[in-house]
Amino acid sequence: MPEIINLSSKIKKQLPAELVNFMRVAGEMAYSQGQSLYLVGGVVRDLLLGQTNLDLDLVLEGDAINLAQQLIQIHQGKITTHPRFGTAKLQWDKWSVDLATARSETYVKPGALPRVKPGTINSDLFRRDFTINTMAIELNPSHYGELIDLYGGRDDLEHKLVRILHEKSFIDDATRIWRGLRYEQRLDFQLEPTTLELLKRNIPMLDTISGDRIRHELELILKEEYPEKILRRAEELEVLPKLHPALKGNGWLAEKFEQARQLSSPDLPPVGLYLALLAYPLTNEENEQLISRLRLPRSLARTLRDTNSLKTNLESLADPELSPSSIYRLLHGYSLPAIIANSLAGDSSIARRHMQLFLAKLRYVKPVLTGDDLKRMGVATGPNIKEILNLLQEARLDKKITSKQGEEGLVNSWLARKR
Ligand code: ATP
Ligand code: MG
Repeated sequence: MPEIINLSSKIKKQLPAELVNFMRVAGEMAYSQGQSLYLVGGVVRDLLLGQTNLDLDLVLEGDAINLAQQLIQIHQGKITTHPRFGTAKLQWDKWSVDLATARSETYVKPGALPRVKPGTINSDLFRRDFTINTMAIELNPSHYGELIDLYGGRDDLEHKLVRILHEKSFIDDATRIWRGLRYEQRLDFQLEPTTLELLKRNIPMLDTISGDRIRHELELILKEEYPEKILRRAEELEVLPKLHPALKGNGWLAEKFEQARQLSSPDLPPVGLYLALLAYPLTNEENEQLISRLRLPRSLARTLRDTNSLKTNLESLADPELSPSSIYRLLHGYSLPAIIANSLAGDSSIARRHMQLFLAKLRYVKPVLTGDDLKRMGVATGPNIKEILNLLQEARLDKKITSKQGEEGLVNSWLARKR
């Protein structure tokens, strides 16, 4: 008889009471309907590692959408369902829980999405990527807290190994190659030797993966604490060239990512900046290839295009004699992450200094007079307004005027010249 491991005290210690209560109630509700509910995946792994993870994934042997609809009546929140997959997301207060119907998957064609049908918890665990992600915890009252570990996940956690479940795993779904590197580097684990062998052998299978799925995995990587570690490992194993052959996961990139992190804030999440830095060494043509391989959405595509085009124009910013208004004119059309990426990655120290000046000061410089003020002063409506506002801004930037009176003087002399 294998030893029964009960994790209920770990659950109580590591998860907030609201979520623990939720799971108890959900487990009882499922049980009273003759169904079984489990906590699965990353959160179980992280409970065993003692790391915080509030992303609850629950799997039900039964109809998950139906259970979710009953649960949301207790919690007064929002529910989003995907009937085709039998999944539901519950959100209330600050909490969010994913509920899925246990399913089994068959891969008909490498890289394509699998054929899915309802299954048992065992089949649901077998479809997963790595042993450390295949553990589950029972939530039914009679077995609450008991660990289900069918594939040696706990052993692998202990030995710090990332191991696939079967030898066709990377062929079925090559995104697992990127996922494997991500877990290995995040957790400071190692790819188990056979897994590593198979990973290397199946790198060509990455060509079977759609742009959307590759982009999704890349985004998950760029949201990690230290994405540069994963990219460096990807270069070492020759996975990175599959994204684009001209990409580099080297020390230069690591240094720039570190600087990017210092600059990022809730308003400026680092993902766009990271991507711009990753693509920085690319030529314009290579940049376009990357954008289409990843099917980048408009705003990220713009970041990459702006970054590349500013990089090609950096020479004009390297003139030490440039006036503030000229710096402004050269930079103001570019998106913010593109300017920041160039200020971190550009070669010329003068151009870098000019971009820093723009970011810290110049971009905020505005005249105090508004279009309405100008009309009141006698400027005719139309393109003149824009022209004078630009003149005022230029004069402000170059410190030719520093007050409202100064601005008014400039407007009046413009009007006098026109008459
Ligand atoms: P974490 O495991 O920390 O949540 P994550 O957020 O990247 O990392 P998700 O992408 O949310 O993980 O996936 C949740 C679970 O679904 C994983 O633990 C894994 O077991 C499973 N999973 C996700 N993608 C795949 C895949 N391509 N193949 C097999 N299983 C997968
Ligand atoms: Mg997750």
